[in-house]
Amino acid sequence: MNVLVLNAGSSSLKFQMIDAAREKRLCRGLLDGFPGRAAFTLEADGQKTKGNIDLRGMHEAVEYIASSITDRVEAIGHRVVHGGPLFSESVLIDDDVVDAIRECCSLAPLHNANNLSGIESARNIFGTALPEVAVFDTAFHQTLPDYAFHYAIPRELYERHGIRRYGFHGTSHRYIAGRYAALRGRDANIVTLHLGNGCSACAIRGGESVDTSMGMTPLEGLMMGSRSGDIDPSVVGLIADREGLTGEDVEKLLNRRSGLLGVSGRTNDMRELLDAERKGDARATLAVQMFCYRVRKYIGAYLAAMGGAEAIVFTGGIGENSPEIRRRICDGLSWAGLNMDASANDSMAGKEGCISRAGATLQAWVIPTDEELMVAHDTCAIVSAASTRAETCA
Ligand code: ADP
Repeated sequence: MNVLVLNAGSSSLKFQMIDAAREKRLCRGLLDGFPGRAAFTLEADGQKTKGNIDLRGMHEAVEYIASSITDRVEAIGHRVVHGGPLFSESVLIDDDVVDAIRECCSLAPLHNANNLSGIESARNIFGTALPEVAVFDTAFHQTLPDYAFHYAIPRELYERHGIRRYGFHGTSHRYIAGRYAALRGRDANIVTLHLGNGCSACAIRGGESVDTSMGMTPLEGLMMGSRSGDIDPSVVGLIADREGLTGEDVEKLLNRRSGLLGVSGRTNDMRELLDAERKGDARATLAVQMFCYRVRKYIGAYLAAMGGAEAIVFTGGIGENSPEIRRRICDGLSWAGLNMDASANDSMAGKEGCISRAGATLQAWVIPTDEELMVAHDTCAIVSAASTRAETCA
């Protein structure tokens, strides 16, 4: 089944066409910078096309994709950031699902509204007869026990506003859990570390998420490219007061001007920071040290939460490609039985494999993530099941 995977952002639309059964990428591309003169890239049959096009918004962006792809679209899979408490798995989209995703907009106003506009445009352009599926970043974490997902705040705030931890990057953590189980031939306790621009850790027991570092929003948890991660909430009021900012301004500051970028005062890009560190930049050094230290703390916490684990698994742009960062995270973990194989670690970039020494009681692995493939698989499975049901009923 040819699945068009759409990831709609505030000013961008990423897409991939995937033959789900053969796990083959037919084409992929990005439209970036709308409304206005948007840049597009399209990669198909090993050929890359680049250019610019005027787009008024999401509807025109989806229209442009529909006119650019030559393969027949048999289903569409949408990445949706927040499924709130309503969605614990991917679903076939109908009017009720669209309404429910709209309801979740209050939990993630920035993200869900964009995803929804991608869904509505696609339904409009491709027609509602073409099956479409929503795959939620939060769904995998709906298995968190209540003592892990509640905040220690008055209960009525949870009841009135749904304030609790939801977790994100679920499609990535689920893909890694599935891939690890396939490589090892069984499920086990693992700690997955998605380290990209956004970063999150997940404690996975027997294939299920039992804790994760992001919370009500993706701001909680690990230090990220431009997000602070964990911070004393009193600091929010303090910054607002001292800097004459609103709560919303401070939230933006913690999301966009903090993390590696804020501490280094230079960049959110780990490659540049490692370069700057080699040239003696003290703030870059501090940013990288903080980043690694905080990941290591979360690994320790999740080993305790699960009573031990078989492996930690690195993924995301940093986790997949930086032996240096992996080494620095793992350096303090020999007490837990993790001893790195330095040469395996050094040679592992963008491919999957074990990077700990034989006999390590806590292993370390690298597994490149593939969220789009996960979306395509879910879409194919749900659409196939629905059409079998329809045939049975007919
Ligand atoms: P996103 O979360 O936006 O999808 P990615 O998963 O692509 O981002 O991760 C981006 C991060 O990965 C950046 O900080 C980038 O510097 C880092 N990165 C990519 N390749 C390397 C590398 N070889 N060494 C260190 N960091 C890398």
